[in-house]
Amino acid sequence: ALSSVLAFSGTTVAAGADTGRDPVKRRVEALLRGMTLDEKIGQMTQAERANITNEEVTRYRIGSILSGGGSTPTPNTPQAWADMYDGFQRAALATPKRIPLVYGVDAVHGHNNVVGATIFPHNIGLGATRDPRLVRRIGRATAEEVVGTGPTWSFAPCLCVARNDRWGRTYESFGEIPELPTRMSTVITGLQGRPGGPASVMATAKHYVGDGGTTGGKDQGDTQVSEAELRRIHLPPYREAVRRGVGSVMASFSSWNGLKLHAHKYLITDVLKRELRFDGFVVSDWNGIDQIDGQPGFTAEEVRAAVNAGIDMFMVPQEWRRFIETLRAEVQAGRVPMARIDDANRRILTKKIQFGLFERPFADRRYLGTVGSAEHRALAREAVARSQVLLKNDRNVLPLDRRNNKIFVAGKSADDIGIQSGGWTITWQGSPGNITPGTTILQGIRQTAGRGTTVTYSKDGTGVDRSYKAAVAVVGELPYAEFEGDRPGSMGLDATDLATLERLRASGVPVVVVLVSGRPLDIAAELPKWNALVASWLPGTEGRGVADVLFGVTRPTGKLPVTWMRSADQQPINVGDGKKPLFPFGYGLTYRRR
Ligand code: BGC
Repeated sequence: ALSSVLAFSGTTVAAGADTGRDPVKRRVEALLRGMTLDEKIGQMTQAERANITNEEVTRYRIGSILSGGGSTPTPNTPQAWADMYDGFQRAALATPKRIPLVYGVDAVHGHNNVVGATIFPHNIGLGATRDPRLVRRIGRATAEEVVGTGPTWSFAPCLCVARNDRWGRTYESFGEIPELPTRMSTVITGLQGRPGGPASVMATAKHYVGDGGTTGGKDQGDTQVSEAELRRIHLPPYREAVRRGVGSVMASFSSWNGLKLHAHKYLITDVLKRELRFDGFVVSDWNGIDQIDGQPGFTAEEVRAAVNAGIDMFMVPQEWRRFIETLRAEVQAGRVPMARIDDANRRILTKKIQFGLFERPFADRRYLGTVGSAEHRALAREAVARSQVLLKNDRNVLPLDRRNNKIFVAGKSADDIGIQSGGWTITWQGSPGNITPGTTILQGIRQTAGRGTTVTYSKDGTGVDRSYKAAVAVVGELPYAEFEGDRPGSMGLDATDLATLERLRASGVPVVVVLVSGRPLDIAAELPKWNALVASWLPGTEGRGVADVLFGVTRPTGKLPVTWMRSADQQPINVGDGKKPLFPFGYGLTYRRR
């Protein structure tokens, strides 16, 4: 299979050689006419911010920089971000053609790299809201926080259709059926706003295509499905994203029937660019071109295969210099046609123009004050409340009475911003602890509890007794990003949580479990011991939204965006497959406000 990929000739899809009267096209063609090969290759190169200096940005005519998941921590005040960004941009503009760079970040649930930003629920929780308008507003708020600190490009949304919850990126999915990511692609419209208008952030539909359908739920694995199924399950959200004018698409690390997406000319060029008429540019994933031949590091053959397959910009975080040299040699040897290089440049330059980078290259500091603003946190709180899914409520233990109550709160996830935010928060993997300002679920419960109510907290549940009218156990997964979850192979509760839950159960007090997790967990054996269960997903910084639902300030309305397994060995389990789940797709109870 590999040799046939590498043998592909480099035919291209022109994104607009015919300039006509379109002013953007005319600007692009005018630029392109004067550009040298090195300048063109520079536009196609994306380096990681800690692996390049300002001076190198100028010298190598670099087209893009990123702060990615695998990056070394980036400055952690919004102001420092804006300064860093402007420094890189000044370096890009200090070149003969003065082409601004486009800076990309993974703002996947708010501007999550920045301490103090509003952290929204991860996509799986937004899928539970079933509310595309809410998701669009979240996109807008995120865009404001991002542009205040400089960047105008986010590697979001993940439009994956998560078919196997063993996948460690299940929480990045809006849900297991194509209709959910398709409907929730309103986030693209929210992020981009009016391209080039105020607070406009170019979105990225990722990871193209079939990333959520790999065998065994293996991250970066192989999606072994027919073309009909690929088109029915995994492609529809991209059709909608293109309709919404998404500026970029990221290729998936995964393969389709054994062939890496990064070298998949049919899917990238024929399907995405020709058939779906995608007019933006395709970016590779982090060192994604290294993986085409299954050996570490990239070769000339892999660079050639990826460029000729239709990838336009290359996320080569550390080895950007060798990438430039390799691609230059491939072009000079005639193995990558100049037409393909020009097509990639047209696509990149078109988006840079459309998103206003030439007119407004620097951080839009008017938006700095929106980072973590009260307004954005209120929106996040609303989203959190709307994302809660009530799965069990025996004897109507919920909603909790706000007044004259005695509530016990326990669990490792009760008072921890890092845990409730999950992966992709401040750092790539995320981490427990006080990593950014916000309201923990415990704090939310304390703030919501009314007169005459006492809230007692003990992390491991010691001190609980029958005098409490209910115990709220906040338990679940520890933060992780990509791969296999927090404890590879296991989808159950960990020993710490089970011990906490056992203490509560033994006391005889009614137990309300709030599950903080990126996906359904294997809980069927424990469930009979609990009186109530709320799937909280990964709510982010505004834990008050969880309390709103527990106390009935907000009515629970969330619906499962994924099928909840009875046991982990049922994976993959999806709606309509005839397997008997613990809770079906779309399940969610409710109660009246209190
Ligand atoms: C992930 C992408 C992400 C990129 C940049 C990769 O590891 O697969 O989703 O956008 O890193 O951080």
